[in-house]
Amino acid sequence: MPKETSCAKADDVPHIDTELLNRKGCFQPYEAKTGMVTWEGSRNVRFGFTFEMHISPHGASYMFVSFPPTSPFLPTKELLSRTVSLLPTNCRYGGVRWWFQCPHCLKRARILYFYRDNILCRKCHGLWYRSQTVERLACLDRKVEKLGAEERWRYYKGRSTRRYKSYLKWKERLDRIEK
Ligand SMILES: [Zn+2]
Repeated sequence: MPKETSCAKADDVPHIDTELLNRKGCFQPYEAKTGMVTWEGSRNVRFGFTFEMHISPHGASYMFVSFPPTSPFLPTKELLSRTVSLLPTNCRYGGVRWWFQCPHCLKRARILYFYRDNILCRKCHGLWYRSQTVERLACLDRKVEKLGAEERWRYYKGRSTRRYKSYLKWKERLDRIEK
């Protein structure tokens, strides 16, 4: 049986999490906390951004974030900066929990994603759908290519080999998705 090509899950989009900031003590009021984060994904994806927290218990709170665009196809290579509002909710047993406000849908979000030239919630970036499809296609493509390269194994004693059947199965799936 040919060894299956492994397909990593597409979760390689850099993001920022309020829980991480909370652990770093970034939601303390009256101090403009600044920091730099290097996000590391699988496959040696590295992404660095800086943030500046402005927490005010009685007025507007926001985070100023500066980051590079994540697509090489964008015209700009310069650092981008965005201001993200921060929303507090009261915890049941006292204390406050902080959330990002997605700049697009304005809903509360625990995680915002850096994607292309913007920082938005997962839904607004359409991330799961997009990354899964692209990743799936790339993965199937690799499988089909790998199996297809082994042409001499397609038939043995006049019958299709397992490898060839597997190739046809993956090829069919690939064709179905690409349509
Ligand atoms: Zn959103």
